[in-house]
Amino acid sequence: MFAYWGRILRVNLSTGKISEEKFDEDFAKKWLGTRGFGIYYLLKEMDATVDPFSPENKLIFAPGPLTGTTAPTGGRYMVITKSPLTGYIAMANSGGFFGAELKFAGWDAIVVEGKADHPVYLYINDDQVEIRDAGHIWGKVVSETEETLKEEVGDSKVHIASIGPAGENLSRIAAVMNDEHRAAGRGGVGAVMGSKKLKAIVVRGHKRVEVADRAKFTSVVKEKIEKLKNDPVAGGGLPKFGTAVLVNIINQNGLYPTRNFQDSQFEYAEEQSGEAMAAKYLIRNKPCYACPIGCGRVNKLPTLGVTEGPEYESTWALGAHLGINDLASIIEANHLADEYGFDTISLGGTLATAMELYEKGLLKQEDLGEDAPPFRWGNTEVLHYYIEKMAYRKGFGDVLAEGGYRLAERYNGVEYFMGVKKQELPAYDPRGAEGHGLGYATNNRGGCHIKQYMISPEILGYPYKMDPHDISDEKVKMVILFQDLTALIDAAGLCVFTTFGLGADDYRDMLNAAIGWDLTTEEYLKIGERIWNAERLFSLRAGLDPLKEDTLPKRLLEEPVRQGPNKGHVVRLKEMLPRYYSLRGWTEDGRIPEEKLGELDLREF
Ligand code: SF4
Repeated sequence: MFAYWGRILRVNLSTGKISEEKFDEDFAKKWLGTRGFGIYYLLKEMDATVDPFSPENKLIFAPGPLTGTTAPTGGRYMVITKSPLTGYIAMANSGGFFGAELKFAGWDAIVVEGKADHPVYLYINDDQVEIRDAGHIWGKVVSETEETLKEEVGDSKVHIASIGPAGENLSRIAAVMNDEHRAAGRGGVGAVMGSKKLKAIVVRGHKRVEVADRAKFTSVVKEKIEKLKNDPVAGGGLPKFGTAVLVNIINQNGLYPTRNFQDSQFEYAEEQSGEAMAAKYLIRNKPCYACPIGCGRVNKLPTLGVTEGPEYESTWALGAHLGINDLASIIEANHLADEYGFDTISLGGTLATAMELYEKGLLKQEDLGEDAPPFRWGNTEVLHYYIEKMAYRKGFGDVLAEGGYRLAERYNGVEYFMGVKKQELPAYDPRGAEGHGLGYATNNRGGCHIKQYMISPEILGYPYKMDPHDISDEKVKMVILFQDLTALIDAAGLCVFTTFGLGADDYRDMLNAAIGWDLTTEEYLKIGERIWNAERLFSLRAGLDPLKEDTLPKRLLEEPVRQGPNKGHVVRLKEMLPRYYSLRGWTEDGRIPEEKLGELDLREF
């Protein structure tokens, strides 16, 4: 097999057993990689109803077939597990260099199971795999963890995925961090790592990923890189201003959520845009492995020195979402979030929920403590004070560490939680892009934009411009196509930002040239559809009630936008959802019928 090793590493932290398993080409063709491999193991080997923090939950780290090759953005990997935030599937994607290094070490996935009785880390040096004591780094922030481990193994070229104090202390919104500032953020995957007492995975690989036809692959890759370079977003806006290039665009289009989605335009957006960041603080770009786009930011602040980020989502979550207009504070808060190991979207979403609960008088100063900063819109003090408290679960930070939904429930304000399936929503108000709203509502992992980025057609015009308020079957079909296509891109091991410039046929070309297959675009999209359905199946088994939970917060369904180009609009989800289920081939109540399971070869589960 080319582009694969055919090897899965299995590590049981309860028994200390380390073993290797093989897989064949049929398995690869069915599941492709990353999310596909992850969901296979969860469905096959795990009771979906287990407590996410129990030793029975599995934690899978998986690169894809194009990870570690020269394919543009071929550095991605995925963390797959049962989410402690939603209770359903979690598959969090990250870039940097860790995924490629894991591939160079000769592994197509690591399946971590059980739970260690003391803090440990995993050291992988090609075929040498050891579970080592991590008592001395437990409690350390991410940068110190990486520094200590590099020194300890005597190799500055290792790449490390680790958790910060947020993951150790089981915050349900904790991320797995790699290469210091890259996050597999969503769904609380860092807390599952913490529950297993696994502080870090340190990897060094010395192998080269072999592709089927090197000359052909090189020429295909060259052509795709050209396409990306010639695209105005992938080759222009993203390298120049980072993903925060979207701040002005999304704000001008009237869907930049402000003060917990109460408004859809932020009066200070321009001052915290990618353009403003580049003018004030940017030193250089930082691409992930094999990435010709390079959206990553390296910024320098007088107070903090050099740091990385924030990207668009974090700029918003720690800025407009909280009514905060101080770019330096946003960058500092993003730095803290990376050090403690938080998902910035859920972190901002939790703080925004607290601010609205405080505004509405449901959360009171006496709940926070006399000296604690009040949760007032725009109060930058909130950032420094509570992020640290949340990481260590100190004082009111203990309540916040549970995420926005549980906070809102505790203070009788669930309607002020802006999330789906208990996961905080990202930086687009779907009342200004209704297909995007359908995507949020139907996402198997809860409130998430990136698994069906409908902003592309609805706002940016990729692959063609669609009316953001059209809710025809064409729109619903596009949501489904984007969900399946994203599953395919993720599973291949590429970054979804390549969709600015590349289409489904381009991914087919690269995969076929690398692996040596001759699959059609439709056959690849079928793999994406299989993965989406398999993830759905897991969430259903874990207790998902689609008719109750494939929905949006009341505000987005019932409160019309107050200003800007989308004034007067809500999301007409009720009209789209039945058609989505039907076009997916599901039942009227959002479940997968036997027939569909057969069609997708999922009957074995
Ligand atoms: S586009 Fe940005 S996030 Fe994606 S691989 Fe490149 S640098 Fe990383």
